Amino acid sequence: MTWFKRDAHEIVPPSDHEVRTEGLWTKCPQCGKPIWNADLEANLQVCPYCSYHFKISARERIEMLLDPGYDLVDSGLRSTDPLSFCDLKPYKDRLQKEQKKTGLDDAIVNAVGKINGLDVVVSAMEYNFIGGSMGAVVGETIARAVDRALENRTPLIIISASGGARMMEGIASLMQLAKVSAGLARLDEAGIPYISLMTDPTFGGVTASFAMLGDLNIAEPGALIGFAGPRVIEQTIRQKLPEGFQRSEFLLEHGFLDAIVSRKELKPYLANAIHWMSQPNVVELETTETSTDTAVAAAD
Ligand SMILES: [Zn+2]
Repeated sequence: MTWFKRDAHEIVPPSDHEVRTEGLWTKCPQCGKPIWNADLEANLQVCPYCSYHFKISARERIEMLLDPGYDLVDSGLRSTDPLSFCDLKPYKDRLQKEQKKTGLDDAIVNAVGKINGLDVVVSAMEYNFIGGSMGAVVGETIARAVDRALENRTPLIIISASGGARMMEGIASLMQLAKVSAGLARLDEAGIPYISLMTDPTFGGVTASFAMLGDLNIAEPGALIGFAGPRVIEQTIRQKLPEGFQRSEFLLEHGFLDAIVSRKELKPYLANAIHWMSQPNVVELETTETSTDTAVAAAD
């Protein structure tokens, strides 16, 4: 005699009963844990277990940082493909595909608005658009953000997420480094604050120009920031690179960054920095003697 008896029939789910799990969970690339997408979104796309910062789009970035009621500006510029460039496919086709995918004209979005009530101009790069590469349109759009900041005497924030200059536009891409840098020099002369926020990744011509020219250069945790990639450097200098090389923590330790700010802290941090940087120049009120003392103390 058997103790337990199972009926022969199987459990048959009703035909309309389907459980969809695909697309509801995301695996964290750093700690490997599955995260429910709603939790990830509520946590500003940061892993709740290990604080890994997922890449986010330019529009999400602006939405996250600016108070409601901001305006998107300077859109409508499109590349003219000056070199009629073709690699695996024509650059024109690639542009069209990326425009359709992202809903943007190029790898940049400008916005004017407020951060905790303080006026700002924001220029955010879109990594999903040909790796956030900087061609003539990206350069021109950032230059227009600089002009806006200058005209209205408003602090500027540029958020970088880029593989560097866009090779499909050759020299026209490289000229953007000088153009944006010249604009930022005018902003500096006018005494208007510029904050550079570097996110994962920030590379090439972007690092070599505006990303490192901020009055305040800050980055998100764990962001890869550099000029050339680690493999290229290793092959060139024929040496093994130290651990964590080109991560924001390494850069902060070696004096290339002023601060690392987690995404959750970013808005209050930026508001505080802008508030502080927009104060009247208090240094001029100090006596020369005090300044010298401070310099000596710092040297000690
Ligand atoms: Zn994680």
